[in-house]
Amino acid sequence: MARYTGANCKLCRREGCKLYLKGERCTNGKCAFDHRSTAPGQHGAARKKVGEYGRQLREKQKARRYYGVLEGQFKHYYELAEKMDGITGANLLILLERRLDNVVYRMGMAASRKEARQLVLHSHFTLNGKKVSIPSILVKAGDVIAVKETSKESVKIKALTENYATATSPKWLEKDAANLAAKVVALPAREDIDFEFNEQLIVELYSK
Ligand code: SF4
Repeated sequence: MARYTGANCKLCRREGCKLYLKGERCTNGKCAFDHRSTAPGQHGAARKKVGEYGRQLREKQKARRYYGVLEGQFKHYYELAEKMDGITGANLLILLERRLDNVVYRMGMAASRKEARQLVLHSHFTLNGKKVSIPSILVKAGDVIAVKETSKESVKIKALTENYATATSPKWLEKDAANLAAKVVALPAREDIDFEFNEQLIVELYSK
């Protein structure tokens, strides 16, 4: 399965904002962006005039990188979003938010979406009682995501879920700390996404 393997911190510098891709490091004072926020590369610090297309492209890349999705997959989400009722840009973000790896991250079971993706790939979770290993599965209202029974004994999972009861999670997820699980009580709404996106720019980019 294809995935980005380059340096994560360069992506934040390229997008000009913290994308929180490295878990604890992003908030413990060791963040590379806090020390140097210019774009990577020899001419990264040079002031460049960014045109309309440039702003649209950067916004798309920011969303894609924030959720850890490759180009083709991202386009696929956009096409799905276009066919749905409602506002395309908001639909797109909601679809990305519904990915299983993002949900595991939002539950507070992983320090980053990348780690959540690894946990799902290694089959540490169940969806409605069935083992899953596909990070891109889209959760639905009523779905229950839980740590697989045999994974509860794993040293790694024990460490990651130690503070599960007190970890914050969005209101559309109802935590069941005793069973290391959460229920999707409702689909996330646009206002539940606590990161600054100008999704209209992405829609304009794809509408060309
Ligand atoms: Fe981005 Fe985290 Fe690296 Fe900071 S530490 S630059 S937020 S990935």
